Amino acid sequence: MTTKFDRLANTMMNKRKAQYSASGFTSITNSNHMCAILKDGAPVSYGTNVYNTNDTSTEHAEAQALRKLYERIGKTLNAKKITIDIFVVRTNGGNSKPCMRCINQMKYYSQFFSIRYVYYTCPSEPGGIRCVKFSQLASEEPHICAFDRNLKKLPKRRHDNSSNSSNSSDSD
Ligand SMILES: [Zn+2]
Repeated sequence: MTTKFDRLANTMMNKRKAQYSASGFTSITNSNHMCAILKDGAPVSYGTNVYNTNDTSTEHAEAQALRKLYERIGKTLNAKKITIDIFVVRTNGGNSKPCMRCINQMKYYSQFFSIRYVYYTCPSEPGGIRCVKFSQLASEEPHICAFDRNLKKLPKRRHDNSSNSSNSSDSD
């Protein structure tokens, strides 16, 4: 199993390198954070971290991969959900546990997809990859990414009608 994910991780790293050389940009951070969404063990969507240095917008690899999958097939699925696994990799070898922002995105997309397992690189695990049920991951201590830690130091921006709706998933 680990071998299979090692291969996937390598594929993703090569994709990332190709993206970089094609774009002519170099990363502003050292952490190349990527995500693949797996259906029946095969990748069906990829995402990479996107940081915009001009404002506070950011899209994490997990959120991007989910959004792309949703835009491609999510809308056509109607009530029928497909089961997916999420695989997250940090190419500098660090821990790639999804942050609170991404967990919330996963919860949101759970209305379209049935998320089964989340795999992420974790140096302290045997094989370097942790596999956790999404339901369990969602109930664990939140991980706040460096970007959000820095963001918290900025003055708060006012939002029109979201004074106390940080976890507003009630759409009824
Ligand atoms: Zn994240």
